[in-house]
Amino acid sequence: MVLKNIARAVKNIYKPPITRRYPEVPSELPDRFRGLQKLDKSKCIGCGICANTCPNSAIKIVRARVSPDSDKTRWFPAIDIGHCLFCGLCIDQCPHGALSSTKVYTTGVIRWTHEELLYTPDMLAREVPVGENGE
Ligand code: SF4
Ligand code: SF4
Repeated sequence: MVLKNIARAVKNIYKPPITRRYPEVPSELPDRFRGLQKLDKSKCIGCGICANTCPNSAIKIVRARVSPDSDKTRWFPAIDIGHCLFCGLCIDQCPHGALSSTKVYTTGVIRWTHEELLYTPDMLAREVPVGENGE
C-alpha cells in the first residue's frame, strides 16, 4: 500500500495540482445540479404547493409585483436559502413549472448574514441581481 501511494505520487508529480484548479477554473456541473432556484413569475399561480411541500419550511408565499414595470401585485414564493436543503421538491411539485434549478451555488448563495439569504420573489425572478452576473 505504501509503495502504491509512492508510485502514484511520483506518477502525478508533473501534473497540475487538482486542489488549485478552483476557483480559477470553475468545476463542471452536471445538468441536473440543484443550485439556487429561479422563479418564472409569468408561470406562477401563487398556489403555495411549493411552500406546503418544502420539508424545511423554507418557503413563504408573499405578495410581490407581477413585473418590474407594474404596480400590480400577486402571490409568489419567497425562499429562505439559509434553510433550504436544495432537495428540489418544490421544483418537482410545482404544477406550472414556475420554479427551476440553476447552476448558481456560490454567487448569491454565500452571504454574510441570514437576512441576505431571504430571497424575495423579485430576487428569485432575477429582477433584482443576486450576484456579480445577476444570474
Ligand atoms: S412556484 Fe409553483 S408551486 Fe409555488 S406558488 Fe408558484 S405555481 Fe405554486
Ligand atoms: S429545494 Fe427543498 S428545501 Fe429548498 S425550498 Fe425547495 S423544497 Fe424547500
